Amino acid sequence: MPAEAPDYVPLEPAAEAADVTHTYARDGLSVKALDGASLNVARGEVLAVVGPSGSGKSTLLFLLGGLDRPDSGTVKVAGVDWQSLSGDERARFRRGNCGFVVQGMALLPQATAGENVEVPLVLDDVEPAERASRTAEALDRVGLAGEQAKLPDQLSGGQQQRVGIARALVGRPTLVLADEPTGNLDSKTGLAVTALLLDAAREGGAAVVMVTHDPTVAAQADRVIEMHSGRLSPTARTGPAATPAGGPAEAGPTP
Ligand code: ADP
Ligand code: MG
Repeated sequence: MPAEAPDYVPLEPAAEAADVTHTYARDGLSVKALDGASLNVARGEVLAVVGPSGSGKSTLLFLLGGLDRPDSGTVKVAGVDWQSLSGDERARFRRGNCGFVVQGMALLPQATAGENVEVPLVLDDVEPAERASRTAEALDRVGLAGEQAKLPDQLSGGQQQRVGIARALVGRPTLVLADEPTGNLDSKTGLAVTALLLDAAREGGAAVVMVTHDPTVAAQADRVIEMHSGRLSPTARTGPAATPAGGPAEAGPTP
């Protein structure tokens, strides 16, 4: 029990999940995908989530991004409880605060790299001039400044993934959620794309929660936590491991 107020003002975490449960019902069966999961990620921090298939990692990301609701427990991004937002507010809040990076990226095949990146800004009615400059900046940040006018099938797999990363970052998110972002890439390309994602996110001050199977990808995070049967392992902790934006990248899991 703290006797005194701390002499600093703690920063609002970028995201927090507290004792979250989530059950899927299918064919009369229920699957408890999350069973009391808690985590906390600071601004500028990169958290890797590892664990066996079916342990609830993707479900955790859906809930952090407000794409599904917990049965119990709370999920907050930038201090805002998803539960306090109506449907429209959720969509807008998500576009302003959450960037998603998924395997394969689901780019629009008939749209150029620039148009793909711009989508979230169009949905948010951002002015065309502002859209153009932010799109160019996001593509530049992922090393694709010259590829803006190309269609996805004119780009390599790694380049397509970088377009997806630019799209995830163009809204200047508080939280980037990445689900097996390198799963479809060879390991060398996967590592390079991860490094780029993490640098770009740290530069923008975003927190990253990244699900990965690949230990060398996980080793690029500030902190690694394990999921088993819908719970985060006892090694999961909140801590000061956050790397300041622009600061040195710390390799390796923290014990
Ligand atoms: P992971 O990403 O770690 O592989 P998931 O979060 O996808 O795990 O899944 C956790 C559990 O929930 C698994 O048992 C999975 O079969 C189940 N599950 C996931 N999505 C659904 C769904 N839409 N309907 C029913 N069960 C689901
Ligand atoms: Mg998954």
